[in-house]
Amino acid sequence: MNYGIDAYRGLISRITKEYSSALVAKIRKLVEYLGNTVKIMDFCGTHEWTITHYGIRTLVPNEVELIAGPGCPVCITPAYYVDQLIKLSLEGIEVLTYGDAIRLPASVGHTPRSLLEAKASGGNVRIVYSFMDAVKYAKSKSNDMVFFAIGFETTMPSVASVILKGKVPKNLSILTAYRYTPPIVKHLLTEVKAVQLDGIIAPGHVSAVIGASSWEFIPKEYGVPTVVAGFEAIDVLAAIESILEMKVKGEAKLVNEYSRVVRWEGNKLAKRAISEVFEVCDAYWRGIGFVKESGGFFKDKFRNHDAVSQYGLRDSPSDLSREIVPGCRCHEVVLGLCKPIHCPLFMKICSPSSPYGPCMVSIEGTCRIWAEHPEALILKEVKSISATLRSMDNKLST
Ligand code: SF4
Repeated sequence: MNYGIDAYRGLISRITKEYSSALVAKIRKLVEYLGNTVKIMDFCGTHEWTITHYGIRTLVPNEVELIAGPGCPVCITPAYYVDQLIKLSLEGIEVLTYGDAIRLPASVGHTPRSLLEAKASGGNVRIVYSFMDAVKYAKSKSNDMVFFAIGFETTMPSVASVILKGKVPKNLSILTAYRYTPPIVKHLLTEVKAVQLDGIIAPGHVSAVIGASSWEFIPKEYGVPTVVAGFEAIDVLAAIESILEMKVKGEAKLVNEYSRVVRWEGNKLAKRAISEVFEVCDAYWRGIGFVKESGGFFKDKFRNHDAVSQYGLRDSPSDLSREIVPGCRCHEVVLGLCKPIHCPLFMKICSPSSPYGPCMVSIEGTCRIWAEHPEALILKEVKSISATLRSMDNKLST
């Protein structure tokens, strides 16, 4: 029996290896044909992890520039939420947060500097693994608590469906820092002119909820080839190949490479739950600014669950200049305007064990991913040096 499984695994691994090699060879040919640099944004933090972890930047030609995008919810969650939760926790209201958000930096000059520091100073802070975990915990207690609800469309349905079922206990309120993803892509393509993209790898998890069709506007309105992709290295390679092929043909289409999970229309039940509970408003993204119709806030009839109403909190920043800590370039990293290594603080005062900026906090943050994969950066560096040497060699021999 075991032999059968091993043989099956071996077969899959051989097919994957052969298919990946064929894709890389095809990518090389397409790039050669195009003869210019192609900038592709991988929107999602998990795609960036796949690209960096599997060394995809070192596999594809230097002309394929893979740029990380704003798809890490922790990175873009504003500091003013953290400040207010810290205050509540020190006043004795129990704050329930995901493990990564506990280290999210508060506003510039704020002390304690994070919920983790607040906890160390006696703040009432607890890590939970999911909203259901928070609900279960709140039901077992009688004290008042606030759940820090951060994330994109992937995490919204879990909160919305529990609210609709009337299963949220009275002592638990929710601070919604939810953000919608298509508006930030629209913002990127219209407002951030310096990032001229040739292709976009759209997020797989988010698309499983909102549907591949949600990205149709990118090729239609902006002429940028877009591929919804899964998270295996082979998915990303297939997405790159597909984008390059469209560039060669002079087409801009939406391709769903992740059809094993993502449907065109998405998950109708999840979408309905989101739209029943949340209304769409303009919202602030840390360091980026206000993005039109990008925030999910409670509709009036669900205000009884809303921590903003219950505790008189702000749902917009009071001082924009305090959102990004001095020297940190996270707001540029998430928009593809610079790479983590361009930040002077990268792996100096900012590291995974001691994050200074928000992009170093979560496992989906670009700075943290790059920091945890130094070998990928070195390989890329070696590759670019050898490309320079090769071209010098060619020039000398002609
Ligand atoms: Fe911000 Fe740290 Fe990244 Fe620099 S290295 S951009 S300080 S998270």
